[in-house]
Amino acid sequence: MLLSKLFIPITKDLPSEAKIKSHQLMLQTGMIKQSSAGIYSWLPLGFKIMKKIEKIVREEQDNIGAQEILMPTIQSADIWKESGRYDDYGEEMLRISDRQNREMLYGPTNEEQITEIFRSSVKSYKLLPQILYHIQWKFRDELRPRFGVMRCREFFMKDAYSFDLNESEAVHSYNRMFYAYLKTFQKLGLKSIPMKADTGPIGGDLSHEFIILAETGESKIYADKRIFDVPIENYKNDMISLKKMRDDFSKFYAVTDDKFKQKDFNDNVKKSNQLQTKGIEVGHIFYFGDKYSKPMNCAVDGKDGKKTFVKMGSYGIGVSRLVAAIIEAKYVNKKMKWPKSVSPFDVVIIPSVTKDKKNLERGMKIYSELKKQGIDVLLDDVDENLANKFNKHDLLGIPFQIILGSKSEGNKIEFKEIDKESQLIEIKKIINTLKN
Ligand code: ATP
Ligand code: MG
Repeated sequence: MLLSKLFIPITKDLPSEAKIKSHQLMLQTGMIKQSSAGIYSWLPLGFKIMKKIEKIVREEQDNIGAQEILMPTIQSADIWKESGRYDDYGEEMLRISDRQNREMLYGPTNEEQITEIFRSSVKSYKLLPQILYHIQWKFRDELRPRFGVMRCREFFMKDAYSFDLNESEAVHSYNRMFYAYLKTFQKLGLKSIPMKADTGPIGGDLSHEFIILAETGESKIYADKRIFDVPIENYKNDMISLKKMRDDFSKFYAVTDDKFKQKDFNDNVKKSNQLQTKGIEVGHIFYFGDKYSKPMNCAVDGKDGKKTFVKMGSYGIGVSRLVAAIIEAKYVNKKMKWPKSVSPFDVVIIPSVTKDKKNLERGMKIYSELKKQGIDVLLDDVDENLANKFNKHDLLGIPFQIILGSKSEGNKIEFKEIDKESQLIEIKKIINTLKN
């Protein structure tokens, strides 16, 4: 892609309404555009990054055998009346009526919808266990939408739902999802902490929030550093191994400030292992048994022929929030740095273009060569001095740069990874690095 043709409305001034780095940068680099309070359009750069995150989320769901579906954004109020949540959900729910005066709503989550699908399609235990997921827009009329797409009203979420015959199998489904989450955040280049969360009035059941570390995060985190050394690679996708994984994680102290007590922290974690930082919730998983299946009468015939309410769990990842969360986690020294797995481009070619067209022509050649090799490359062909270009690319955060200025000569080309010293190397070597 040529930068001069790309629709990236970059602005020089800092947007004054934005309080945190990710929000500033997303507006400044034209990733998103606010359309009304807490509602955003996604422009090419932002949308490309979000799609890459979505792809990784999808791969890890598929890897544990979850199946993708797509449910609508608009739901009927009837199913929410059955579960009893129509009144409970309160003002966060956007309620709509259609021309026949039927009560509808824009889905804030999909437990009722999926339970309705499941109860009318599955009658026997033989189809269990089952995990279904979709990646779809949600609407929650948040009281205080803020920080851009971090807490907005319309957002993109992966939500999965598991169905099992009994509690021990349901816990295994929960553990599979726990594993998928760890892998997902790892692939996104993030350090995540699964943190035991309150389950509220349901009681006794399971819940974890997945928090990623970021200095600017909303929640304060107190944890035992060694939680990052739990070797995710060593677990296998079977019942015993995944149970061990959960046990291994639960050995380490990790809480947010609402549960923090200095004495507990000191008693459980020796000083040199104490980690105090901030984080952002990017995922949340729950096991809630028959909370929805019972009132909505979602039952299957068990092995003994008796009807049993299916045991369910639900599992969310904030796909659009992750775009901002990654910025918060990775931003250092006034520079953005996208993890390679989600970067909008693999590499940017930055030719000095002010004096003559020689560098630009060279840039074009390298550009075609890289494209032939299947590398997603951006060429900065904008007529601007190098200093300005560098500032701009510090904001955009593409992890590798090919710089065509005074240093690049003959077949030695200046190649730089953000935050590292540049090197003079041959194009072949550059291609190899980028392909790995
Ligand atoms: P929070 O406590 O932040 O309001 P929640 O517990 O309401 O989150 P869930 O219902 O568990 O969130 O939703 C799953 C995921 O969806 C969250 O972990 C978060 O990443 C994302 N999410 C929730 N609300 C929003 C929002 N208003 N804007 C963007 N992402 C959101
Ligand atoms: Mg919420």
